[in-house]
Amino acid sequence: MKRPLVAFILLLVLKQGLAQNRQLVLQHVRVINVLNGGLSGEVTVTISGNRITGISKTARPLPGATVMDAKGKYLIPGLWDMHVHLSYYGAGALPMLVANGITGVRDMGGDLGQIDQWRAAIAAGTLSGPRIKRAGPFIDGPKSMNALRASFTCTPADEAAVRLLVDSLQHAGADFLKVHSRLPHALFLALVDQARKQHIPVAVHLPRDVPPQEAVLTGIRSIEHTESLLGDVIYNEEEAAREQHTAAALKKLYGGYARQLAISMAAKQIFYDPTLISLYRLRGTAYEETLGPRLLPVVTALHQAGVKLLTGSDFAWKEAGIRPGYDLHGELALFCKAGLSPLEALQAATIHPAECLYMTDSVGVVEEGKIADLVILNANPLKDIRHTKNIYAVILNGRYLGRDTLHAMLGKAGGE
Ligand SMILES: [Zn+2]
Repeated sequence: MKRPLVAFILLLVLKQGLAQNRQLVLQHVRVINVLNGGLSGEVTVTISGNRITGISKTARPLPGATVMDAKGKYLIPGLWDMHVHLSYYGAGALPMLVANGITGVRDMGGDLGQIDQWRAAIAAGTLSGPRIKRAGPFIDGPKSMNALRASFTCTPADEAAVRLLVDSLQHAGADFLKVHSRLPHALFLALVDQARKQHIPVAVHLPRDVPPQEAVLTGIRSIEHTESLLGDVIYNEEEAAREQHTAAALKKLYGGYARQLAISMAAKQIFYDPTLISLYRLRGTAYEETLGPRLLPVVTALHQAGVKLLTGSDFAWKEAGIRPGYDLHGELALFCKAGLSPLEALQAATIHPAECLYMTDSVGVVEEGKIADLVILNANPLKDIRHTKNIYAVILNGRYLGRDTLHAMLGKAGGE
């Protein structure tokens, strides 16, 4: 090896080492414990590389550390959007998410190859974006709602095909599977059976001919969307008959049936991702525009029965009007409107996502040893959940992003 090359490699190794050991110190910050709503006094939080290495009243920064005075500020875990479609929106969503304090997302249907390129670039530090867990393609049935986006959708023809698909997605490294609304009943049962054998979690947009009570008993990980609890009502092509069907389905959901469903979901520890904000953003027929408020009591009932909620925005195409990052705060506000306390809403965006994704050893709380995906707020979100929008800085995988940096990122993304 030539000497200049050796020197160059040594420099790279040294730089890498320095990056890993770089210390970021937040002084005088108050830490929110999302497990119990506790609020610490002023402490010093030390971050080395991408990990939280200390939370104490006496810590002293190492020479060369970056020291930030966060007096009067509040530290929370980075937020998660548990229902996104990155491939539809494009890479422009990534800085919008980060600037809004979202440090992790669960991608619920998209182009696995493309998402993995973004994921690798984020891990390498060449692209700023949240941590990504992803399903890869939708698994759907005939007349798929996603037919226009065929490249993101698999429609297995029979039981053998569905089992093969589960195996191949597991082999491709999918973090979980995403079932959509047209998967036929028999194929749904084959899918969850094969997924159990392959130890891969299943997130479910309830198929129209699988009753919620039955789906709940199969061992799925999460149920997506509130309207999918209405059965096939929302997909009824007959506009005129829709209102009548909806009224009947809601009557059922406001009654004893819903209580039973909630009890089963809580007992089976199935997470529930209502994606309310997407319903509130629907613009079109009068039916669509009133659906959100009518479904709010369903979310209240499930929460009160002990079902763990997740925050998801369901952003996809730009034209649908759901804004990456910004609308996750709208989802948090709707959770409070449904009767959750600010702490409970915050849990749905932090610790519940960590539990749902089996990541409690690394994210979801502000604790020594955890990954430093954090948000520094100017005001206390336990008093008013709207304060999650009042962001002072974001710490992404140990990297401090102050207001100016976040603003510059949004400028590049063409965001707000
Ligand atoms: Zn979706």
